[in-house]
Amino acid sequence: MRFSSILTSFFVFTSVSIATDAQLVPSKANCLVLWAYFPKQVSYAESPAYNTTNSQFWDQTCILSPTCIFYPTSAHDVSIALKYLTSVKGRFAVKSGGHFSIPGYNNINDGVLISTERMKAMTWKAGDTVLELGAGVLWGEAYAKAAEKHKVVVGGRIPDIGVSGFLLGGGLSFIGAEYGFGCDNVVGFEIVLANGDIVYANGSKYADLYKALKGGSSNYGIVTRFDVSAYPDAGGWGGQLLFAIDSNATRERMLDAIADFHINGALDKKTGVIASFLTWPELGLNAFLGNVFYSQSVPTNSPPAALAGLLAVTGTAGLGNKTLGEVVSGTGAGATKGTARNTFHVGSVVATKESIHKVDEIFHAEFAKLANVPGLRTVLVFQAIPPSFVYAGYKNGGNPMGLDASRGTVSWISQSLSWKNAADESKIKLAQRTAKNAYMSWATANGLADKFLYLNDADEFQDVFASYGSENEKFLKKVKKVYDPERVFEKLMPGGYKV
Ligand SMILES: Cc1cc2nc3c(=O)[nH]c(=O)nc-3n(C[C@H](O)[C@H](O)[C@H](O)COP(=O)(O)OP(=O)(O)OC[C@H]3O[C@@H](n4cnc5c(N)ncnc54)[C@H](O)[C@@H]3O)c2cc1C
Repeated sequence: MRFSSILTSFFVFTSVSIATDAQLVPSKANCLVLWAYFPKQVSYAESPAYNTTNSQFWDQTCILSPTCIFYPTSAHDVSIALKYLTSVKGRFAVKSGGHFSIPGYNNINDGVLISTERMKAMTWKAGDTVLELGAGVLWGEAYAKAAEKHKVVVGGRIPDIGVSGFLLGGGLSFIGAEYGFGCDNVVGFEIVLANGDIVYANGSKYADLYKALKGGSSNYGIVTRFDVSAYPDAGGWGGQLLFAIDSNATRERMLDAIADFHINGALDKKTGVIASFLTWPELGLNAFLGNVFYSQSVPTNSPPAALAGLLAVTGTAGLGNKTLGEVVSGTGAGATKGTARNTFHVGSVVATKESIHKVDEIFHAEFAKLANVPGLRTVLVFQAIPPSFVYAGYKNGGNPMGLDASRGTVSWISQSLSWKNAADESKIKLAQRTAKNAYMSWATANGLADKFLYLNDADEFQDVFASYGSENEKFLKKVKKVYDPERVFEKLMPGGYKV
């Protein structure tokens, strides 16, 4: 009997209800069947392909032991694999750029890891206003492709983030104040649904699914292509600022400048800044790291007014006329991959001078208590989300994230922690929550709390979909019922945020 007919014979089970999590056959057998059908597209433990894929995670705790890795090259391949896996209740996970830092969200033990890394096609369409991106494309590759036509796309701020996870979780880019979130700039998603159907969701066909995918993460299927708007490249200015925080007075001045940027500078839609405080207690390092982009070239001796307050403190060393792709490549230079334990935790406050100072004070006081944890590095990020970010999304049909633009600029606060030993994880996570609860209590008491939790920067205990608001959460659940009635992407794919 040909292997393909072995596979086909499993499809008789496709009407089986996915009522329980129990697999009908072991993962090893599922791998064998996939290998039989796709002999060049399955890798096993200890093979070079497997080892490479299974090391490409930003967080070392995401490196698990999948039984095998399947590499689809098209939506059709994904469809066949999904039909088979659902027919035998086979467990699986999906990985694209591997930048989620929650173990089990993009990898699996005892199951099939579906890696999109061979889905790299990038094609222009609609008179070069839309770039089709295969699900395995990384943002650095997308910027390089867009640059061929002197265009930019609304993508990630380090080059090796995958387009898939980023766009399905929202997508914060350097040019979001002008164009909105990455997901707001997707004009269509090609997606394989739980029953294996391949559909194209856009503003007119499968419009509910289209909207749900803009922030609904991996709940609806495996997306195989994202068609994104591309915009003329007007040049740019920016780079990376690294500035020592050598005294409390310097810290206070820096915090004032960050607050000023949120309240005033961020209203200039051409501006994008990631404002981070780094500490590395073992080395006694305290620094401000600013990743800056202004989407227009400017004379070297006259930086944009929107950034004047920040630059008055830090100076302009490291900044200059650069394309968006060049600035993103520079931002990635400091990012380590698969070498540490990492965890993110997110919150949001209305940006005022007081709220920015308070968050910093609470966070650093909490982590000062853990200064002896081996390898501890802390990063506190302030990310300005001015109203224009949100309005740009409305213009493109809206998303289900429920962001409130009525309160002026909010700051999304990301706590990013790295450390060495597994034994310290619970302490770190507790400190993150303690810090967040304390600054949110303060913000609530002062009328400055914002409920939103950004999915791409959240931890596994944060209820991101509830933070979208009850109507949006209801909408996401309703769409889930239509496109994944058997809850395949919950029962067979254990990882990811579930609606
Ligand atoms: C160093 C660093 C910098 C970052 N910078 C930014 C930034 O500038 N802006 C920002 O918004 N975020 C940023 N993030 C967060 C990042 O956007 C998220 O981690 C995002 O999910 C990564 O996408 P990925 O494809 O690389 O991740 P993966 O880990 O591969 O996937 C993330 C999730 O999406 C699911 N998924 C992946 N592919 C598919 C698919 N094709 N169909 C369905 N589900 C799929 C996975 O199963 C997983 O649950 C950063 C993260 C790190 C670690």
